[in-house]
Amino acid sequence: MRPFTLVFRDETLEKEFQKVCFETNLPQIRVCLALGFLLYALFGILDHWIIPDAERLAWIIRYAGVCPLLAVVFFLTYLDVRHQYLYPLMAFAGLIAAVGIIVMILGAGAPGSYLYYAGLLLCLMFFYAFFRLPFTTATALSWGIFLLYEFLVVRADSISFPVLVNNTFFFIAFNITGMSAAYSLERHMRRDFMQRRKIREQTERLETALQEVEKSRQEAEEIAKLDPLTGLYNRRYFFAVAERELARYRRYRHSLSLIMIDLDHFKLVNDTYGHFIGDQVLQALAAAIGGLMRQADTPCRYGGEEFAILMPETDLAAAETLGRRIKQTIESAEIETRKGAIKVTLSMGIASLDGVENAGIEHLVDRADHALYEAKYSGRSEIKIWDKTSAGTQLELIPLS
Ligand code: GH3
Ligand code: MG
Ligand code: MG
Repeated sequence: MRPFTLVFRDETLEKEFQKVCFETNLPQIRVCLALGFLLYALFGILDHWIIPDAERLAWIIRYAGVCPLLAVVFFLTYLDVRHQYLYPLMAFAGLIAAVGIIVMILGAGAPGSYLYYAGLLLCLMFFYAFFRLPFTTATALSWGIFLLYEFLVVRADSISFPVLVNNTFFFIAFNITGMSAAYSLERHMRRDFMQRRKIREQTERLETALQEVEKSRQEAEEIAKLDPLTGLYNRRYFFAVAERELARYRRYRHSLSLIMIDLDHFKLVNDTYGHFIGDQVLQALAAAIGGLMRQADTPCRYGGEEFAILMPETDLAAAETLGRRIKQTIESAEIETRKGAIKVTLSMGIASLDGVENAGIEHLVDRADHALYEAKYSGRSEIKIWDKTSAGTQLELIPLS
């Protein structure tokens, strides 16, 4: 802020302030214009007694000049006129009002010629405190009117010297008081504007930081669901989803299926090609599984080289179809590694809850595990479907009533 003019050194900041200031002051500016209009019109009553010889001239100035001008500016505030134009227009209207009074003074005989300067003081009050003109404009306008008054009155020699001295004293005192009032008012407004701006900036920064924290939290939450090697869901998340799906299963009695996959002789892959290549095989396998999934399915890395796929609203037949597709895709593929292409086979166990059983998720996992064991037992690279009769270790299930 410049100390004398109060203008911000930063031009964009100054423009922003002018705009904000105008918008907040607009209601008061309108009241001020309306009041100015009213007073200027009402003081016409005084003309009749105080300046009867210049009454006609005064009324022309009032009712044909200044009042219509104030009315026009008043209505312009309701149009989309930008503040850059409206402030000068207001200053111009104020200047015309004051010049109008000076003309009345010059045209009047005693006592109007020495009393009417009070009207100019009233104008000054409007400029400094009420019109909300910028401090510099109000100052220039008020001192300009004072000088014009002095010049014209002295030139016309229309008032006595003591009255001129008296009026001059009042004028100067009024200008100084008005300046200090306008100065502190505008300085206060500018400080207030800066503080609000700072608070807004800080709030924005805080909001951005909060959004970033929330984003990081969501990312961390996503990462916590995943297995770092394969990018599939991890076992913990699998069980969280399984519990949720089991609740839906119990409510809607849709089927819920599970596929368990275990790579055959994976230890051999590690032993032959090394652990690193084994990892690559696991990743390729996970990518293939992920690519075949539907949106609602939850594929996860259940253990080392074991994978599980939970399929809500899917019966055994549909689960088997998907299982065969996975097996066929993986076994027919050659997994490219640094040490050449590798082919793997897998064993698979598939089980379902068929919509009427009052079973827990552990029952479903045990069944799929059991079927997987059977697939391994019958020579590997097999798909086995759990069914009640073939299961050696039946689980106690309570039928739904
Ligand atoms: P089976 O056909 O009976 O399943 O034989 P297998 O060799 O696959 O089974 P086993 O349980 O004997 O061995 C599993 C192997 O999987 C042993 C372990 O080194 C390997 N394994 C487990 N986790 C990882 C892993 O994260 N990376 C790699 N490269 N190997 C793993
Ligand atoms: Mg295993
Ligand atoms: Mg295995």
